[in-house]
Amino acid sequence: MNSFFKGVRKHIGKLSADALREQYKRVADEFDFFEKVLGAIKEGIVVLDGDGEVTYQNPFAVELLGKGGLKGLNINLGQSSKQELAVTYPEERALEVQTMMLERNSTLVIIRDVTAEKRHTEEALMAAGQSAVRDLAAGVAHEIGNPLNALSLNLQLLARDYPNEDAIKVCRHQIKRLDAIIRDFLQALRPSRPCLVPGNVAEPLTNCLNALKHRFEEKRVRVVLDIPGAIPVVAIDKNQLEQVFFNLFKNALEAMHDGGSIEVAVTANDGEVETRIRDSGEGMDEERLRHLFEPYRTGKAGGTGLGLMVSERIVREHGGTIGAESKLGEGTTFIIRLPRIEKRIRALK
Ligand code: ADP
Ligand code: MG
Repeated sequence: MNSFFKGVRKHIGKLSADALREQYKRVADEFDFFEKVLGAIKEGIVVLDGDGEVTYQNPFAVELLGKGGLKGLNINLGQSSKQELAVTYPEERALEVQTMMLERNSTLVIIRDVTAEKRHTEEALMAAGQSAVRDLAAGVAHEIGNPLNALSLNLQLLARDYPNEDAIKVCRHQIKRLDAIIRDFLQALRPSRPCLVPGNVAEPLTNCLNALKHRFEEKRVRVVLDIPGAIPVVAIDKNQLEQVFFNLFKNALEAMHDGGSIEVAVTANDGEVETRIRDSGEGMDEERLRHLFEPYRTGKAGGTGLGLMVSERIVREHGGTIGAESKLGEGTTFIIRLPRIEKRIRALK
């Protein structure tokens, strides 16, 4: 079909009025056809121009978003991104919002209703949570931690006597990997409800950055902070948010192969506190971005594909959202938004 239009475009100057009328009719029929297809699709499709104005939306987009449209969804124009949002209007739903670049500066937004899917995953997780197998798995994973620690300590002692022994280095590296795998599994197997208290995102952020300081230096990664002194209060479970930031920094580090930078910026608006973590790593393609928060989707030899699933769950249980924007070869930005406490109180009044 594309080549047909190209052919018409090429010869348009030579076409007679009748031929033009004929072609026009064909185009109009095509248009009707596509409109019908887009009208039947159970995914919301919106096209925005370079200024963010809606140039097209299919009926399902209107059904999903109501009159407010894309307002409040924080769409970044001209970027590939994916985020999961909870909306309360026109009804309570979980939406997955994906953006892609189109030609002529337009942005394609695809919105999927994942309410049922989410509920299903949640129920499956809950069911698994009650099973003895799961407790057993968590128990075993936990028990492996102790001998690993002992091994690690002894290897450290050995390394002092034999500083150039490669075998020791290999063992220590593998132990680190095992340790990370076990931590991911334990987080995934034993979800605990966050214990939310009023707090500041800067604290878990800086705790995490301090703990990883050596890793950043080792990998020649520069960390640039833009965290204002006074940040509005949000309801947080400090330990769990540290887990989220730790997972994100670890992924960022693993995405950088020859030094680079990580930029951390915290901003606030009327309703939310937003934390952006941007890395100059290898980035992701759209396929990976599409399945980003799903379990076991890893792109790494030693990965578990659980870190982001756990992070998404934690942020969601904080009443917030997490999303990512990425360009292959350029880097990735994770965006975490947490609702401000004062706003909640005001909304309740
Ligand atoms: P794991 O790190 O164990 O693979 P995660 O859930 O943490 O599992 O991440 C899933 C996948 O998403 C990674 O394997 C990687 O391919 C991709 N990914 C996550 N964060 C980034 C990032 N900052 N840059 C590039 N790719 C990333
Ligand atoms: Mg990870």
